[in-house]
Amino acid sequence: MSIDVRKRVAVIEGDDASPEAVRPTIALLDTMNLPIEWIYPLVGDPAMAQYGSPFPAESRAQIDGADTTFFGSTSGSSGASLFYLRWGKQTFANVRPARYLTGARSPLADPADIDLVIVRENLEDLYVRAEGELSTLAEPAPRGATIRRSVKDLAPGRYAVKAITEAGSERVIRFAFELARRRRGCLTVTAKFNMLPLTDGLFRDVALSLAQEFPDVTLETFIVDDFACRLVREPQRFDVVVMPNLYGDILSDAAAGLIGGLGMAPSGCYGNDYAYFETAHGTAPDIAGTHTINPTANLLTAAMMLDHLDLGEAASRLRAAVARVYLEGRVLTPDQGGTAGTEAFCAEVARQLECV
Ligand code: ATP
Repeated sequence: MSIDVRKRVAVIEGDDASPEAVRPTIALLDTMNLPIEWIYPLVGDPAMAQYGSPFPAESRAQIDGADTTFFGSTSGSSGASLFYLRWGKQTFANVRPARYLTGARSPLADPADIDLVIVRENLEDLYVRAEGELSTLAEPAPRGATIRRSVKDLAPGRYAVKAITEAGSERVIRFAFELARRRRGCLTVTAKFNMLPLTDGLFRDVALSLAQEFPDVTLETFIVDDFACRLVREPQRFDVVVMPNLYGDILSDAAAGLIGGLGMAPSGCYGNDYAYFETAHGTAPDIAGTHTINPTANLLTAAMMLDHLDLGEAASRLRAAVARVYLEGRVLTPDQGGTAGTEAFCAEVARQLECV
């Protein structure tokens, strides 16, 4: 009796320009003879038409039954499935590598050797999305209330809750320590500790106490505005950087800018029981239909997925082939100063795969 060792991957192509990058990425992976079966849960408008729901139970069961999900980017009705992958699956660590590939269009004079990973807490902070009217807020006791007006007195206006928990911080910071241990052994923690000692301060304190368990990892802390400046001035000095959700969302896009833009930036979201893979960029609606979206982010995101599926050799080959395309610089998409379309870029990666 033969055992099926194939991995099952759920693919959600996403909206706007996203399918234009996802489809050639899957087609390219298909040329690599990988033990992967692709399944396509219906979400968004097609699911609405067939099942009367943008995220029906059938699609959820397909995601549950898959080894992982490869997600495009969503701008609308496929969003429910993304919420499920994130909060439903408790994928708490959003890993966003920023590694410069020679030949990519960086704005820096010297981008060589940028190789850092931002680990963004993925479920808490302002993303608990608890907002409301200031007038309904129970009287809080803000620090410095004697010299500033109390928060309630600011009404009319609105507030948003920033939630940082000890358990939520611990799991993502532990994840970051373990990642740093497997890389160059340096972990940076950043947040606004000084202004927000109870919330961001808790995040830092959790890191400081966990440091005892990781004596082989060098830990440093920077206030987030200082970190933003250092990220631009000396990105090469960073290895793994962990931060709360909102800072991670913003600064990972900034890090992507340093290495050539959002088209270069992969991303994966990891929990204890599930991981899914989705580029850092959005749906690029402004270039939808042009088939010029840079698929590098999708290809490198796919490489992260292959690592997760224990297909590390294929992941390394894919990364090497993409790097060679940039090194040669003949077939690049418009965001990198070239004229190639998405499919032509992927064809060039396929050609380079023969050489690695
Ligand atoms: P979101 O809020 O979901 O992040 P957004 O519309 O703010 O979405 P993106 O969709 O990421 O942001 O697009 C920002 C800019 O970057 C757009 O001009 C878009 O065309 C460009 N962009 C994003 N991804 C790519 C890509 N893979 N290749 C080329 N350009 C891209």
